[in-house]
Amino acid sequence: MKNQDLVDYLRECGVCQFCQLRYLKARGNEYQNQKEYFERVSVEFIDESNGTSDPANKKKRQNVCPTCLDLFSNSFKEQLLQAILCTDIEKYECAGIVVAISIPIVLQLRQLSMWYALLDKFGSDISLDRSPDVSLKEAIKLILNPTICESLRKNYDINNGLMININLCHAQEEEGIARLGKLNNVVHPPKKGHKLEPISRSLIEKKYTPLRVGSELFKEVFPVPPSIPNESLKLDNISLLGPSTYVAGRYRKISRHLSHTPWVLNGERVMSDSIEEIIIRNIAPHFCDDTKKVNFMSSGREDVDVRCLGAGRPFVLEIQNAFRVSLPPEQARQMKGCIDASQKISVRDLQVVAREDLSHIKMGEEQKRKCYRALCQLSRPVTTDILKKLNLEQGFEIQQKTPIRVLHRRPLHTRPRTVYSLKASVCQQNKRLIILDVVTQAGTYIKELVYGEFGRTKPSVASVIGQPIDIVALDVMEIDLDWPPTVTD
Ligand SMILES: [Zn+2]
Repeated sequence: MKNQDLVDYLRECGVCQFCQLRYLKARGNEYQNQKEYFERVSVEFIDESNGTSDPANKKKRQNVCPTCLDLFSNSFKEQLLQAILCTDIEKYECAGIVVAISIPIVLQLRQLSMWYALLDKFGSDISLDRSPDVSLKEAIKLILNPTICESLRKNYDINNGLMININLCHAQEEEGIARLGKLNNVVHPPKKGHKLEPISRSLIEKKYTPLRVGSELFKEVFPVPPSIPNESLKLDNISLLGPSTYVAGRYRKISRHLSHTPWVLNGERVMSDSIEEIIIRNIAPHFCDDTKKVNFMSSGREDVDVRCLGAGRPFVLEIQNAFRVSLPPEQARQMKGCIDASQKISVRDLQVVAREDLSHIKMGEEQKRKCYRALCQLSRPVTTDILKKLNLEQGFEIQQKTPIRVLHRRPLHTRPRTVYSLKASVCQQNKRLIILDVVTQAGTYIKELVYGEFGRTKPSVASVIGQPIDIVALDVMEIDLDWPPTVTD
């Protein structure tokens, strides 16, 4: 089969120049430098852009292409670009894009039909199981994507690009699917007890080749070669999906009346605010419109009445469909200012991080050490004997049953936990008060460690000193996680 014969036949069928190139297996730039490529593969080039004196060619040029339904035509590209510019793409501040074009099934059927036609025309020069053209999917990458990128002045960035989802439709889609359904019943009848496989793009890709489906059968359902269609493809809709952005930082909790996440009891809010809400409402609007979909994660959490001091607790916001991927220092300072003004929490080290960094927050929770400071009260003044018993540089093991107060959300277990050290000192203003510095394994319940919870935690501070002890206030002093990195102003 000579290339010229192939192209002559395609032209006879009304196939556009881009599709002619697809059947000549053109790659990369060859779609842009058409004349050069036609000449290289010894095919006469017809300049369609400037018109031609041959009225026959002129007529062909005006029909809708039977194999791409004008997907690659200049007018369709123009229409596509205009439609993209009409979206709120301007709002997205990213350098890269990804284009995902969903084509109607009827377009795939037309490729198939042309395959059968070429077999009829050129016989054994055409493979029965490897399609004779550069697939539409591949051609979209080679022809449409570069055009879209160039017009929008964006890079193609498959990892972090703004996703442009384009759905195309065609007037004959329903009819095409119905016909294929009939054919499919004959070619791939459902096995006993199995449901009929629904018609899909992958079904056609996998199960429809001239090797697997005889030409006669196919021709009963579809015209071969594909007919000249009355209508070209239409744009159904375009939607944009921005990349996910991750903002990390550390928070210090200054309030003893603030829950970690919105606290709802029997359908009613217990406290009007939470750490999660304060952080999200001050940071997320810079990155996205819909702050309800923002996900707040932290390395552990503290009770409502516990403060978190020191360098604070690491957290990350996962922001989907973000229209910004960077956080300029000035913006970060403003956010920090607004959050600090709440006087309930303060934040530091705000920064955008990579998705891979999320593992820091999620992993190794159990292995971490936690440092607490507890203010405890005895019924009598503290003695040196008690202080001696509570200054333990050597750690010890405890067995801790799940506290009754969390049984509604945690299963009942008895878990071994390590207390790494205890350090106690007397409060100078009130000799019945002890300041207790505790370093423990993550997951230890500190309040129960102190008062023992009726023997549910053994040993406890109460059992060590042999008398009841109450916890008045608790602070987290340090979280054993060296992440995210410090941001210097
Ligand atoms: Zn075409």
